[in-house]
Amino acid sequence: MPDCIFCRIIKGEIKSDIIFRDDRAVAFPDVYPKAPVHILIVPIEHIPSVAELDEAKAAICAHMVTVANRLAREQGISESGYRLVTNRGPDAGQAVLHLHMHLIGGKEMGDIA
Ligand code: AMP
Ligand code: ZN
Repeated sequence: MPDCIFCRIIKGEIKSDIIFRDDRAVAFPDVYPKAPVHILIVPIEHIPSVAELDEAKAAICAHMVTVANRLAREQGISESGYRLVTNRGPDAGQAVLHLHMHLIGGKEMGDIA
């Protein structure tokens, strides 16, 4: 998707400090971090949001969780704890219409609901 900011990061057209990349996903720091650790895990395929995942496509979600767990260990927050969040739609505040998972941690977080 030519106008998608995350597709452009994946293609290297917009600079970002890619901290993980394989054939299915990339991860890079959120530009406006909401916690000491705030990393985005993003599938290489342009999928607008979690709502487009069905049983056949949900394997990418398992991969994103696996990548997030690995990064949490690397960032030293596996034991202190972390939150994995994916936003879908306006009420959730989804700003970038390319599926992504926020890995957030490094501080105590309040309830979100
Ligand atoms: P969401 O509200 O779930 O769609 O989250 C989108 C996230 O992308 C926000 O937390 C933004 O701070 C982040 N973001 C937007 N542009 C960039 C960028 N160029 N590099 C890294 N993170 C970004
Ligand atoms: Zn995209």
